[in-house]
Amino acid sequence: MKKTLLSYSAMRCPCCRTDEVISRLTPEPHYVCKVCFHRWKPAFRTKHYYENLSGRSKMLEDDLDIKNKERRKFLKKYLYKGMRILELGCAEGSLGAVVKHDAALAYYGAEPSQDARIAETKLDGVWNSINKIPSYLQFDMILAFHVLEHINNTEEVISGFYRLLSDSGPLIIEVPNFSGNKLVPWDFNKEHIHLFSSTSISNLIEKQKFHLRELGTGYYESAIYNDSMRIIACKRKNDREVRCNLYDRFKRFLGDRFVIYGGGGDFESLVSPYIRSSNILCIIDSSKNKIGSKVFGRTVKGPEEITKNLGERFLIATYRYQEEIFDMLNKKGIAKSQIVTLKDIFADVS
Ligand SMILES: [Zn+2]
Repeated sequence: MKKTLLSYSAMRCPCCRTDEVISRLTPEPHYVCKVCFHRWKPAFRTKHYYENLSGRSKMLEDDLDIKNKERRKFLKKYLYKGMRILELGCAEGSLGAVVKHDAALAYYGAEPSQDARIAETKLDGVWNSINKIPSYLQFDMILAFHVLEHINNTEEVISGFYRLLSDSGPLIIEVPNFSGNKLVPWDFNKEHIHLFSSTSISNLIEKQKFHLRELGTGYYESAIYNDSMRIIACKRKNDREVRCNLYDRFKRFLGDRFVIYGGGGDFESLVSPYIRSSNILCIIDSSKNKIGSKVFGRTVKGPEEITKNLGERFLIATYRYQEEIFDMLNKKGIAKSQIVTLKDIFADVS
């Protein structure tokens, strides 16, 4: 009879929470999520395992150099004066020490091992667990490079990040991409509980109300773990907030009265849900099929209406034909500053 690993009747995937989980005994005992391909090993150690360890980032000097140089360069675009950064698993604080040279910011760490003593001398504050950080503190950026694969309860950590991160700040995470090296079929590292897939790491953070902004592979932790995934996420806004923001953008660009040029599919899906019909002076379209039909409660007019609205703002409500309509409106006397395109409204994603 086939041996099973452990009783896992109540076992759920730690990333996507499905119970479609199987256990395997080779190459060593572990679980596999059939939905998001996460693999994880039974936790082998006590909660206090890391407390007496030290030299957590000890590695070849070259590796530490390559890694810190790349991360420092990558982080530069996020830095600004007065910001507060938290790094989970800061070891002896070598990354924080160099990042602090790049901007007048405050850099804090969380580190359970003895390395925290050294980190304290370089950083602005170090706790031995993120659970010890006072809840009134907020950070403008949170970093966790090669930490999550070590942690048994990853959900608890990600929800802690949510609590500690400011509303607009980025969360930057790096974990091995499965084994962390394309040449290596399985990660036997005893400290690594989790082998993440791109789907499982996305599930883990999205379930904790984060929104994925970027996910890349092939990042360098060491010559061994040279295929890491880097994830950039931010707090997810609720649907109402997103909708209100879009209402505001239309209002900011168009004011309270405007002409719509284009009453087709883009108008229906991208414009009409976010404006008031009462603010529309008229809807114009050049298609004979559209002219005379009812759109958004209005009768669509032909291009002859353009010259009757010379002083008004125009929204070109079609993406595909926006350039030719822009030129045509301009030729008929509508100034460039009066014309708004869908690109103006939607292109800014910051
Ligand atoms: Zn899963």
